[in-house]
Amino acid sequence: DTAVHTQPFQAEVSELLHLMVHSVYSETDIFLRELISNASDACDKLRYEAIASPALLGEGDALKIRIIPNKTAKTLTIADNGIGMERQELIDHLGTIARSGTKAFVSKLKEAKDGLGLIGQFGVGFYSAFMVADKIVVISRRAGESDVWTWSSQGGSGFEIARASDEEAARVTRGTEIVLHLKDDAKKYLETYEIERIVTAYSDNILFPIELVPEDGEPRQINSASALWQRSKSELTADDYKKAYQQIASAFDDPAMTLHYRAEGRYSYAVLLFAPSTKPFDLFEPNRKGRVKLYVRRVFITDDADLLPGYLRFIRGVVDSEDLPLNISREMLQNNPQLAQIRKAVATRVVSELESLAEKDPENFAKIWDAFGAVLKEGIYEDFERREKLLALSRFTTTSGEKRSLKQVIGDFKPNQTEIYYLVGDSIERLKSNPRLEAATARGIEVLLLSDPVDAFWTSMPSEFEGKPLKSLSQGDLNLDLIPRIDEKDEPKKDEPAADEATTIAVIKAALGERVSDVKASTRLTSSASCLVADSQGPSRELERILSQQNR
Ligand code: ADP
Ligand code: MG
Repeated sequence: DTAVHTQPFQAEVSELLHLMVHSVYSETDIFLRELISNASDACDKLRYEAIASPALLGEGDALKIRIIPNKTAKTLTIADNGIGMERQELIDHLGTIARSGTKAFVSKLKEAKDGLGLIGQFGVGFYSAFMVADKIVVISRRAGESDVWTWSSQGGSGFEIARASDEEAARVTRGTEIVLHLKDDAKKYLETYEIERIVTAYSDNILFPIELVPEDGEPRQINSASALWQRSKSELTADDYKKAYQQIASAFDDPAMTLHYRAEGRYSYAVLLFAPSTKPFDLFEPNRKGRVKLYVRRVFITDDADLLPGYLRFIRGVVDSEDLPLNISREMLQNNPQLAQIRKAVATRVVSELESLAEKDPENFAKIWDAFGAVLKEGIYEDFERREKLLALSRFTTTSGEKRSLKQVIGDFKPNQTEIYYLVGDSIERLKSNPRLEAATARGIEVLLLSDPVDAFWTSMPSEFEGKPLKSLSQGDLNLDLIPRIDEKDEPKKDEPAADEATTIAVIKAALGERVSDVKASTRLTSSASCLVADSQGPSRELERILSQQNR
């Protein structure tokens, strides 16, 4: 099998590369961050596999990443001695887009006019190297294997796979070499000061040494290669945290919340978590997992340990345990009692940090709420233990036109008001003109207008906040009558003959027959003649609607 095999890219990859190659986007630096991050992942994977099979690490060099500029050849090489890739892995990993987030991102890119700005904000992994290179050659040997393969591509529609030459095979004893043939306008990346500048800015916290191998002179390490979360809070600045967040989360925004602490006691572990200030594209993908990385004594284990409940899946960062066994398998993680403890404690801590942020830094809290409020509200029905806290954190658009907390709403209760009122629907605009609001408006009562799909779920079970029940204006039994109307003359006249009412109801009931379960006189309406309400017991009409959509 010495032949060269040509393979097409998956359609999304071609689209992405097309956008990238024709980009006039100037912030191309991120390609280096992406390739270094892949190299670091590869070292992490090897270290993890070597726990079970120490032979994989062998006697060879310590795990590290090397950056090698070559001005004569106009190439920049990023090499690691991590896990490496077999032939099929090269085809699968560098020919398709596996991450659901990236797929969603590509379709966003195509829609957006300023799509290329988005590349800079989010990064697109390996393929971002085509912003600076017109040809890429990847040479790789999987740890423990004798075969060495090359993958090469000029962007376009596909790539070639071939066996490496003897010379290449002798050079790549383990891991991966990525050789970028730089475009003419990307030659600056051959300058050592440029490389150092970018590594310091984006990759300083990579745990493995990053060596710069200059053409003239000795290789030297250009990152600090220390685990930032192990350092004490007092020696770290806001900027250190921001850089760590951007590197850990592959993000470009500022963190809206930073939580760094060390738990000591029965179990010891370090926690460094961030809430982003912008929304990722795959937040609502059903298979999106949390992205908190689990380390055991500085060794990366997995980012798939479900360290936080689903409604906190937007939180990024690291938990580094001192006491879990290093050789814990990813499967064992699910049932490990110690990890269960850590999960619980960390979730509690995140929620209380959100509480104090809401109080002390409402501006940053508002960013989190705007981006992730709809996700946090999932917790109101998923997490009974923290339900009251999550309700307290929630901000709702109300008839006041502002985003308000339940505390604020209760603070502005009208005389005799004992219940919090809400309406669920598919848009705030449509809710505003809902006739069911009339009774509340007539009394100056503030009503929550709920329009996120998740709202139909958490409101489907009875809830209360600080002893005040939450009631939908579209259900029966409301205690509105005791609250005075603003305008006296709207008050229904008590002395009008009631006989009329009974006759009217009888006529309507006869006309509607089986289609309604009851017809009642109401004091809720001011200008509309009638409205439909759900049984106080049954599911709300909005939930019925969503459920019937899902079952289709
Ligand atoms: P991501 O890192 O988010 O998975 P990338 O596009 O950056 O996406 O990389 C795609 C995949 O290619 C990686 O998941 C990994 O399997 C493989 N890969 C990339 N670079 C390397 C490398 N240096 N060593 C081993 N595998 C790599
Ligand atoms: Mg990557």
